[in-house]
Amino acid sequence: QAKRRGGGTHQIVDLRTAGDSRDRHELEQELRVALARSELDLAYQPIVRMVDGSVVGVEALLRWTHPARGAVPAEAAIAVAEQSGLITRLGAWVLERACRDRTSWLVEHPGQPLDLSVNVSPRQLMTPGFVTSVSAVLGVTAMDPAALVLEVTEGILIEDGDRAMRVLGDLKRLGVRLALDDFGTGYCSLSYLQRFPIDIVKIDQSFVSRLGPQTTASAIAASVTNLAHLLDMEVTAEGIETGRQHDEVVSIGCDLGQGFLYAEPTSTQDLFAQPRLSGINA
Ligand code: C2E
Ligand code: MG
Ligand code: MG
Ligand code: MG
Repeated sequence: QAKRRGGGTHQIVDLRTAGDSRDRHELEQELRVALARSELDLAYQPIVRMVDGSVVGVEALLRWTHPARGAVPAEAAIAVAEQSGLITRLGAWVLERACRDRTSWLVEHPGQPLDLSVNVSPRQLMTPGFVTSVSAVLGVTAMDPAALVLEVTEGILIEDGDRAMRVLGDLKRLGVRLALDDFGTGYCSLSYLQRFPIDIVKIDQSFVSRLGPQTTASAIAASVTNLAHLLDMEVTAEGIETGRQHDEVVSIGCDLGQGFLYAEPTSTQDLFAQPRLSGINA
């Protein structure tokens, strides 16, 4: 079904054309093939504790290298998978692969039990049997549930709050932790933090990039952080790129940070080659 492309032309997937249904259909077919042929991979981005810069965890991020198109942005691949329903299989692949990787790191680096964050898309979260599949993966990969953080986005909490609440409660009973990803990008009110069993709030990069002394963004981020701490949650600042943002995040009191300033997402082979990772707990 996938259209033949002459002359090895490299086509870049553009999120803006994802509305073009022919394009989307083509990408969907190719994603099916990719799942079968292991063109998919995971990159891991370190998450650091702000007070001492130690790496306490990693976030798994999907990487798809298409033989002709090249690197397909994770957001495009996930959008196509969500629309086609392929997300259930793709999400299961990501979760199992990430848990397996984490288990093998633990064998090689027993002194460094990193927390593992895995993104869960809205449709994946709401798929019947999702909780059962998470439980099965934990078992088959011998993954410590307490070390797994599932990252969900606020949209689903708003759209289908009651069902989301049941699923999140079931996940909590497995012993995994939950993070609210991309906080500050949608319309999620602060009351959601109290209503849902969230352990970690991730302040979105678009917010972090606007932080600075005496800015509204910093005032809001500080109140979110204070509230999260009152509710016994941790706060991660995403997409920290500059020393100035780092300083601001520290003064706001965020617990954890993630961003190119500390480390970019890397392959599992390179992860432990980073000085911060190989250095701590040595
Ligand atoms: P996210 O979960 O918010 O992940 C963080 C994104 O920010 C990643 O982009 C990461 O590479 C990028 N990032 C981290 N630090 C910086 C920084 O300092 N500057 C900048 N400019 N970017 C930074 P990526 O890997 O392209 O993923 C984009 C989004 O795609 C993710 O956002 C997540 O929503 C989704 N995604 C990726 N992998 C998966 C997956 O396995 N499953 C699901 N459901 N979604 C995924
Ligand atoms: Mg995330
Ligand atoms: Mg995010
Ligand atoms: Mg994001």
